[in-house]
Amino acid sequence: MLIVMKPDATETDVERVLETIEKLGFKPHEMPGANRIAIGITGNNGAVDPTHFENLSGVADAIRVTKPYKLISKDLRPEKSIVKVGSAEIGGAELAIIAGPCALENPKQVFLVAEAVSKSGAKFFRGGAFKPRTSPYAFQGMGETGLKILAEVREQFDLNIVTEAMDEHGVDLVEKYGDCIQIGARNMQNFSLLRYVGKTRKPVLLKRGLSATLDELLLAAEYIMAEGNYEVILCERGIRTFAAHARNTLDLSIVPAIHNVSHLPVIVDPSHGTGRNYMVNPMARAGVAVGADGLIIEVHSAPEEALCDGAQALTPMQYLELVREVTAIHEALLPVNKIVESAIVA
Ligand code: PEP
Ligand code: MN
Repeated sequence: MLIVMKPDATETDVERVLETIEKLGFKPHEMPGANRIAIGITGNNGAVDPTHFENLSGVADAIRVTKPYKLISKDLRPEKSIVKVGSAEIGGAELAIIAGPCALENPKQVFLVAEAVSKSGAKFFRGGAFKPRTSPYAFQGMGETGLKILAEVREQFDLNIVTEAMDEHGVDLVEKYGDCIQIGARNMQNFSLLRYVGKTRKPVLLKRGLSATLDELLLAAEYIMAEGNYEVILCERGIRTFAAHARNTLDLSIVPAIHNVSHLPVIVDPSHGTGRNYMVNPMARAGVAVGADGLIIEVHSAPEEALCDGAQALTPMQYLELVREVTAIHEALLPVNKIVESAIVA
């Protein structure tokens, strides 16, 4: 059930609705919007009786939700969500660029890349300290030592840190050192981990699973939000298909599909989405053209020496060129995006 408040509802009206939901043994989720406040209800097994709310002061409507998801939905919040990550935002008018190495390897490598990322004007730095590797014998990441380097990068370059956690201990550490917890493709349906990050108050970058449908991705986000953490950013990073010309098939059609049903921002990862250095820039351009709120790009100071994902890593020079090109596309599309946004809010 979704309670829509009248535009002139008072704080007391809202309080009364929240209390009523709690008294019924359910969990209220207050979502302030541009024109009105909506309150989602979770924790109910069957249908909630709308008569509990219909006559309360300030309530415009009590709507039954028939879709499998509630909190990610534009029914709850028609306008797009802007997620605050450290000192910057994802989902607003500005294109968010998150860039950095796949894996943190040593301070020299990290700082060389961070310098390029800072120079590009990007506001977010990525780099994995905990790596989900197919082989147990492959480099697994630097762990907490890597996170400490990331904290130095934040200090020195004023970049906001996005980094992956693979388990609860990792979440605790990323909360301590980073600004955004990345949940990787392989953990998209690790429901206990999703619940755990849902209890934190750090934004979460949720990557699409290797063969996840749109609904599975949205319901994974719903797990996080149902725990009270509404700061979720979705990420298309390619899916497994029969195609062998790329590492994965970057499914850009999911970007408008997400924007069609959800208020959450969505970014595109053309690095894992293609796995090929020469495809990253063209697919990044396409991602921006299709309306992504941002990009996540792997950059390495010496891709041929990378301990992880070297084939898809851009050199700092290639990365700077990518930023130049995607910025031009994003600027050209600003009037279009404004029209789309105002049509959504109307
Ligand atoms: C990554 O971003 O380095 C990563 C491991 O991504 P994914 O989970 O999409 O494979
Ligand atoms: Mn990688």
